Amino acid sequence: MQNTHAFTEPWPKGVVARYLTLAGATVDVTGGGEDTGYQCSGCPYSSGPYWRDDIAHGHAQGHAEKCRGLPRPS
Ligand SMILES: [Zn+2]
Repeated sequence: MQNTHAFTEPWPKGVVARYLTLAGATVDVTGGGEDTGYQCSGCPYSSGPYWRDDIAHGHAQGHAEKCRGLPRPS
């Protein structure tokens, strides 16, 4: 099975960073600075806004490392 989906598809408007999960879904970081949040495309989880973008990115990466939710078929 080949999954290049996450690398070839254009990012949705407002997404500033993406973290790839173990299952091939993405955790999308939106906003910036004092209003940075994220949501997962593989499960209903979202979080934020955080008051610092580096903290939001850290949490987004942490979720991406653990989440097993599959990306929704397009
Ligand atoms: Zn998730």
